[in-house]
Amino acid sequence: RFALEGKTVWVAGHGGMVGQSLLRRLKSEACTIVTAPRSVDLRNQAEVDVWFAQHRPDAVILAAARVGGIMANATRPAEFLHDNLAIATTVIDAAHRHGTGKLLYLGSSCIYPKHAEQPIREAALLTGVLEPTNEAYAIAKIAGLKLAAAYRRQYGCDFISAMPTNLYGPGDNWDPEGSHVVPALIRKAHEAKLAGCATMTVWGSGSPRREFLHVDDLADACVKLLVEYSDEDPVNVGYGEDIAIADLAELIAGIVGFNGRILFDTSMPDGTLRKLLDSSRMKALGWLPRITLEDGLRGAYADFLREGA
Ligand code: GDP
Repeated sequence: RFALEGKTVWVAGHGGMVGQSLLRRLKSEACTIVTAPRSVDLRNQAEVDVWFAQHRPDAVILAAARVGGIMANATRPAEFLHDNLAIATTVIDAAHRHGTGKLLYLGSSCIYPKHAEQPIREAALLTGVLEPTNEAYAIAKIAGLKLAAAYRRQYGCDFISAMPTNLYGPGDNWDPEGSHVVPALIRKAHEAKLAGCATMTVWGSGSPRREFLHVDDLADACVKLLVEYSDEDPVNVGYGEDIAIADLAELIAGIVGFNGRILFDTSMPDGTLRKLLDSSRMKALGWLPRITLEDGLRGAYADFLREGA
């Protein structure tokens, strides 16, 4: 057990959706939260070392990453591979050399093979080929979690990894080109409603299925893992159910109040057909998601009206 009382916890990537949620969640713990200004380049070892020397965090949650939806991943593979590799190596190595007591590395459900058996267990890692649309990101994230495990094995560092499923919530990226499907469809439905359009267009066939977890449920899981988990094996963190993109589009259209037809642009990629995580390891620790998809999406639409519209 890693008690948080009196500890200094660095949330790396506090500007992102996951980081912001972690800051909200950690406020209810008796720890001191530290964050690095954007001017600290986490890809740069020397800058990361200066940061560690100045702030001496007892624990690190590595939520900093270059992230994006299916098109961003497919069109900017160099950035996704380079930046995520660099962030993992600088922070994990510095945490080791500065004696950080605990580090939680955040992976992603896209690290699993394209044809993994569903629901996907942690043991499926590296058993098959990856989905090409997010291979660069996945390779970097696999390297990151293996790096955390290697430092654990070789140096005895208490470094652990979690694999979140697709996330959504406040602080999401609302940019129509680079975003993930939930914020993209909220924006599309909202703009189609305002413009009085008869149709809105969804990418791909609508048949891929995705599992969506509210980011605040992930933050709860992260804190639980930080305190209670200490093992080399990563831990999946998912909602437990998936939904076809066509049904997600219907659900979002209903919440937003768009009453027109939903069209599918099959010239756009589907990506992997299914990636539902088996989260039984996380549930065995006593964690369960509390925010239903429908409630979460209602909240996300309110967030969009405040942050993204
Ligand atoms: P992925 O889980 O890595 O594939 O990431 P995304 O969240 O970007 O995409 C999930 C699925 O939603 C894919 O099958 C996309 O083709 C589909 N999708 C449908 N419409 C959109 C859209 O407007 N934006 C995005 N990003 N995905 C969309």
